[in-house]
Amino acid sequence: MRYLSTRGEAAQLGFDDVLLAGLATDGGLYTPLAYPRLAPSEIAALAGRSYAEATAKVIAPYLSETFSREILRAQTESAYSGFRHRAIAPLTQIADNLFVLELFHGPTLAFKDLAMQLLGRMMNHVLEERNLRATIVGATSGDTGAAAIEAFKGLDRVDVFILFPHGRVSDVQRKQMTTVDDDNVHTIALQGSFDDAQAILKRLFRAADFRSRVGLAGVNSINWARVVAQTVYYFTSAVALGAPHRHISFAVPTGNFGDVLAGYVAKRMGLPIERLVVATNANDILARALASGRYEPRGVTPTQSPSMDIQVSSNFERLLFDATGRDPAAIRAAFASLDQSGAFDIPPAALAAIRAEFDAESVGEAETTDEIRRTWRETGYVLDPHTATGVTAARARLVKDPATPVIALSTAHPAKFPDAIERAIGLRPQPPENIAARLDAPERFTILENDGARVAEFISSHARAAKS
Ligand SMILES: *Cc1c(COP(=O)(O)O)cnc(C)c1O
Repeated sequence: MRYLSTRGEAAQLGFDDVLLAGLATDGGLYTPLAYPRLAPSEIAALAGRSYAEATAKVIAPYLSETFSREILRAQTESAYSGFRHRAIAPLTQIADNLFVLELFHGPTLAFKDLAMQLLGRMMNHVLEERNLRATIVGATSGDTGAAAIEAFKGLDRVDVFILFPHGRVSDVQRKQMTTVDDDNVHTIALQGSFDDAQAILKRLFRAADFRSRVGLAGVNSINWARVVAQTVYYFTSAVALGAPHRHISFAVPTGNFGDVLAGYVAKRMGLPIERLVVATNANDILARALASGRYEPRGVTPTQSPSMDIQVSSNFERLLFDATGRDPAAIRAAFASLDQSGAFDIPPAALAAIRAEFDAESVGEAETTDEIRRTWRETGYVLDPHTATGVTAARARLVKDPATPVIALSTAHPAKFPDAIERAIGLRPQPPENIAARLDAPERFTILENDGARVAEFISSHARAAKS
């Protein structure tokens, strides 16, 4: 499989280079030339397989030139061996036709582990083959950073630098990042928002000099390997409910649009998905964009679902690329307009194409708390605040279409956000034991001002790959 940039000005690459590149040199995102299709019989045959087996089956067409079948199977087996639940991504029913897909059984209690554990193994393998070192730089609204650190800590070929918005991640999220004491892990508390951190990251990737000097590699949700790894649980959960013989809808708590994009890709690959419901919190750029056709970031409002406190949903660019009939000039024009005037209008045909597959619901703070309380009262099941936005959006979908089952993606374990849970139900959920123990360890991080040059300098002076 070859990959092209959504902005059309970067070279086409194979999977191994896309894996290491993250963002394309023209500022665009890599997307496969075509989506491989799984026949209904192949989808049906996923039933009864282990999650690791299903992963190898679903993602093989994207990367068969880089990884042999045997290596891929070994990597998927190893990636999910540390999860606390045998099913890796189990389903729980909480109401008629309403299911929760638990994606929080990995080492950092959030769904990002599912992709990141695999990504770390794949990157290390490619670097070993090429006898290279790389520098991973990531921006995190909380969970990506911890997942990246868990996936890359202690690896000889990689140094990890994680930027997080100072004071805007939960205590548990911060400690999961700052209590890791491996020398190749560097956490940076940026004096700014997640969008500031992401903007710095994008600039670093566009600085060709810096990029080659430190062997910059990206692991943010724009990395195609993460999107691909995330398609798998759409398949396994839909199959568990009767796909491909039955249509299923999904409701997805959304920030950077990576997770829900994976659902869209699964649909392109042949999974019969009825609707994809984008759930946002008060940071509702996507809900506004779908309603009005205008993509316009506003200031970020801190909420109880901080991993969704994002107003620049990077992966939306991939959807827009497809929705414009894969027109890189339209994408360049849209993002030039975003840079210059702070917004762009989605072309009408593209907007219609997006509306044909996606709903969006913006869920406020009080509604989120109400949903946590309601689900707990009705079933005894505790939703984390991110998941609660998804469940609220799923209920809205069921009102419109009661006959199609809806799977709400549960993106985090409630113990990651104990304050929000306590506000809603008066109880503080406890993290699993192995995680609780680590949270008392000493913290280690560097505070830097919101200044790209400062961040670049810090990385250059600490990265082992940097050639002076
Ligand atoms: C990252 C994250 C999200 C948002 O996922 P995107 O892929 O950025 O849309 C939602 N919930 C939690 C708990 C997360 O960590």
